[in-house]
Amino acid sequence: MNGLMQSQPLLISSLIEFAERHHGDAEIVSRRVEGDIYRYTYRDSASRARQVAAALDAMDLVFSDRVATLAWNGYRHFELYYGVSGSGRVLHTINPRLHPDQIAWMANHAEDQVLCFDLTFLPLVQAIRAKCNTIRHYIALCDEDKLPKDSGIPGLIAYESWMGAHSGNYAWPSFDENSASSMCYTSGTTGNPKAAMYSHRSTTLHAYAAALPDVMGLSARDAILPVVPMFHVNAWGLPYSAALTGAKVVFPGPALDGKSVFELIEAEKVSFAAGVPTVWQMLLGHAQAHGLKFSTLRRTVIGGSACPPAMIHAFQEQYGVEVLHAWGMTEMSPLGTLCTLKNKHLTQSAEAQTAIRMKQGRAIFGVDMKIVDGNNEELPWDGEAYGDLLVRGPWVVKEYFKSEGGDPLVADSQGRGWFPTGDVATIDADGYLQITDRSKDVIKSGGEWISSIDIENIAIAHPDIAMAACVGVFHSKWDERPIVAVVRKPNTEVSREELLKFYEGKTAKWQIPDDVIFVEAIPIGPTGKVLKAKLRDQFKDYRLPIVGQKP
Ligand code: AMP
Repeated sequence: MNGLMQSQPLLISSLIEFAERHHGDAEIVSRRVEGDIYRYTYRDSASRARQVAAALDAMDLVFSDRVATLAWNGYRHFELYYGVSGSGRVLHTINPRLHPDQIAWMANHAEDQVLCFDLTFLPLVQAIRAKCNTIRHYIALCDEDKLPKDSGIPGLIAYESWMGAHSGNYAWPSFDENSASSMCYTSGTTGNPKAAMYSHRSTTLHAYAAALPDVMGLSARDAILPVVPMFHVNAWGLPYSAALTGAKVVFPGPALDGKSVFELIEAEKVSFAAGVPTVWQMLLGHAQAHGLKFSTLRRTVIGGSACPPAMIHAFQEQYGVEVLHAWGMTEMSPLGTLCTLKNKHLTQSAEAQTAIRMKQGRAIFGVDMKIVDGNNEELPWDGEAYGDLLVRGPWVVKEYFKSEGGDPLVADSQGRGWFPTGDVATIDADGYLQITDRSKDVIKSGGEWISSIDIENIAIAHPDIAMAACVGVFHSKWDERPIVAVVRKPNTEVSREELLKFYEGKTAKWQIPDDVIFVEAIPIGPTGKVLKAKLRDQFKDYRLPIVGQKP
């Protein structure tokens, strides 16, 4: 017997419809590429998203055609999120920090028909245009009078004139909730990138889950600042969860330096922000250097790479901001786990609570996870055993776009497919996940594994160190030994010996890196993660100073 409830497809358009109807006057505030602050409401935004949908319908596009964006976090990008997907097309957000050849490759692979871009990226679009074989329409996200005269892009149109020519009286179409809604290429460092293809159903379920109290805890009382870019994994789903809750949204545009972000947080009374550790490093650096305090910021989600304990401490102890450590990946839309305490932890000491908060957190309902050994046997949840992390759930990929890379799933004894994350992790008895490393970044020393994340976290806890990245280098006896590349804070002088001494007592002796190398900068990739492959390449001819007898 079937249930007798209405069957309504979970469509992205319903989120903005809901926000318009129930939170019509809630604000969406954007720092624009033009430099000014632009403010309007969900009501305005919903109407303009419908205009975008009508404008797309008026083009020679069919259902599921791909519409690409090269854009910062802002209200026009937000309208495209809804207008493109809501009208049945697929939003392809492209990371502008990628190499132009890679961007052109992705546009061709996705068979993008339209490219909408912020004027910041005009030179980039000019550079790739000749290589993009499928794009037929180029739209600059600006007013008509800002449209560059000699762009060299035939038929370039201004977004405001393009969508402004259509009425907001558009009725959102209804279709299968499993239809593709948006896509994002992974930041894979080897081989061609592969695309995760999200659906209306997966995106809506993810938006529901993200808003839950033990996840991001979003509400109509929040003012949220997604610093995490809308060009990578849908800004962790925040543009959808915001509409679902009616939270005020504050978009930072291109100004991501500590000063600009701090000023926006204060001016717009931001209560919740989300971003990768490298961005928060700049924010904290600015606040610390100028003796500033946050007056409204209460919570910040930090993920994308391991959040150093020193950052969790600084936010909590110095600024009273709760850090929610999160883990996920492009293939998971991206949320997998988020770290919040359980009731029984509330009576524990501050130290014990912080130790929990440093982990990547508990699985969100909808995400099933397990760790396995080399024979695909599940390992215990004891916080000690570490193994390959596998996941499954309705917002986890089952295959990549165009079946790139073949079937990625690993079948269990019941024939269920699990996605191998490529991460190595432990899970404790309370279900808290801790990422040890990317499997390819783990350092294998004399048959034992050393977590590069642990080594980096200790270095960053030193008051003179701004950034650290640990890689393994060849060792004739132990196969590999860790070395740590560090960037000193300005006007500090910590020496190699002092830093090595700092490790003593904080980790097992044999895990202490064999060398410290002071560098000007650590290579950061297009999604804000340390480029370990590049660093390994940089140190490929490196020889350890002393052939040690460790461990
Ligand atoms: P991406 O698909 O570019 O979002 O990258 C996903 C990968 O980033 C994951 O598989 C992890 O290796 C890493 N990652 C994401 N969040 C965290 C975190 N909180 N701690 C450690 N690694 C993380």
